[in-house]
Amino acid sequence: MYLYQHQFVPKEEVAISPDDRGYYFGDGIYEVFRVYNGELFEAEGHYRRLEKSAADVRICLPYSIKELHEKLIELIQLNHLQEGTVYIQVTRGSALRSHPFPSQPEPVLMAFTTEMQRPIHKMDQGITAVTADDIRWLRCDLKTLNLLPNVMAKQDALDRGADDVIWHRNGTITECSASNFMLIKNGELWTHPANNLILHGITRDVVLKLARQLQLEVHETPFLLDELKLAEEAFITGTTVEITPVISIDNVPIAQGLPGPITRQLQQAFRKHIGLA
Ligand code: PMP
Repeated sequence: MYLYQHQFVPKEEVAISPDDRGYYFGDGIYEVFRVYNGELFEAEGHYRRLEKSAADVRICLPYSIKELHEKLIELIQLNHLQEGTVYIQVTRGSALRSHPFPSQPEPVLMAFTTEMQRPIHKMDQGITAVTADDIRWLRCDLKTLNLLPNVMAKQDALDRGADDVIWHRNGTITECSASNFMLIKNGELWTHPANNLILHGITRDVVLKLARQLQLEVHETPFLLDELKLAEEAFITGTTVEITPVISIDNVPIAQGLPGPITRQLQQAFRKHIGLA
């Protein structure tokens, strides 16, 4: 079942108009929640980010967060979801194609669940990445539907024989196409600060908290492309990828091309955090 506006309906009954501004302009926002063991993971963080995205693009959410939470729990139960994700998007609604906001916008909300296991193999073995110019706009902190740069970059990475892209803006590493990027240098953790140039990942927050608990020195400080060469370890963080090691960048192995010990320690702490031993 899908949540469509205020109802639960089969997918075929989600009747979104071809005039929906999400379709014309990418004029909408979204969130992806993780569900572990039938429960929403870090729900408050996702709601806060959804509210922030909505406020900054001036879309009025059709529900209060309390109501939305109740609806999402009902959706998870209706779909008998144990392990997977909940996707929710809210667009500015439909109107004849024209740039200005409709005078009386009626936002359209749609949510569905997807079954998905934890990506054990990739978390264990690691992934490869290539670097590329971050050509996105200057509000990457908003989770909007405009993902063409992310889609293009991911496909370019795959075409170059890698699993993902690591973006840099004028030489400063920002993040990846659907995850945040972190590296370990001199035994300390480095990641881009949570400003307008990256998405403020919910997993990023969890991992930084766990890192501090493990007495790791954490730098939320910009670092340069050149510093990738000095990395002892590197990994990405995200709702679906959790903590996935990066074992080579631009065909150069990180350390010995194997996931490093600090990455393993953080993965272990993360497993514990989500209720696995
Ligand atoms: N950056 C980008 C560009 C993303 O799309 C995502 C995935 N939502 C992330 C970072 C990671 O965010 P989160 O940990 O909240 O999934």
